[in-house]
Amino acid sequence: MDFESLKKSIAGVNAQLVAVSKTHPPEVIKNIYNKGQFDFGENKVQELLSKVDLLPADIRWHMIGHLQSNKVKQIIPFVHLIHSLDRLSLAKEIEKQAERRHQKISVLLQFKIADEGSKFGILPEETDSFADQFLSEDYQHITVKGVMGMATFTDDEEKVRGEFRKLNDIFHQLKEKYFQDQPDFSIKSYGMSGDYQWALEEGSNMVRIGSLIFGERNYE
Ligand SMILES: *Cc1c(COP(=O)(O)O)cnc(C)c1O
Repeated sequence: MDFESLKKSIAGVNAQLVAVSKTHPPEVIKNIYNKGQFDFGENKVQELLSKVDLLPADIRWHMIGHLQSNKVKQIIPFVHLIHSLDRLSLAKEIEKQAERRHQKISVLLQFKIADEGSKFGILPEETDSFADQFLSEDYQHITVKGVMGMATFTDDEEKVRGEFRKLNDIFHQLKEKYFQDQPDFSIKSYGMSGDYQWALEEGSNMVRIGSLIFGERNYE
């Protein structure tokens, strides 16, 4: 599918597209930017830093990969949305670095919905205890905007849909119990190249798509 039709079909269901540009060089990213795409996702801090200065300043950079606390400081000045808040110690570090710069940082809570693959994320059964602990602290420089997750890498449609449904439920559970009066809590980030259509049908409103846009990745 060409980029324009992909973008149009995602906008058509009121979802946002994050173009996942990891492993791809700045020139290639610039091509997609020139087609009107402003949201890009990277999963490694070092790689993100190497690209930021070479690309237009109005790109919104999404940190979608596992984030080590000691690297938070480097991305705070420019990051648009951190998708991978998965532990309290990371929240503490984001708060500390954001306060230092008098900035507010937007984050998503990452949940582990797959039974294989990424080992990161808050366990669904720990949703309430995580939220209780998180909200017992006063994180004045963090805005929680929603949830993020990754389904199992499989072509078993029912399994993948079931995992997305679980994350959709977690979102609504959190919204009702903890974020009712916060309209900012509105993002459901799930769906990648292989499963984004199922994700959109299961309530996603932000998909993170890489290989479908940029082609297969070459890891060296
Ligand atoms: C790489 C990656 C994606 C995009 O994967 P594709 O299959 O290339 O679309 C989405 N989310 C995360 C967290 C990723 O690491």
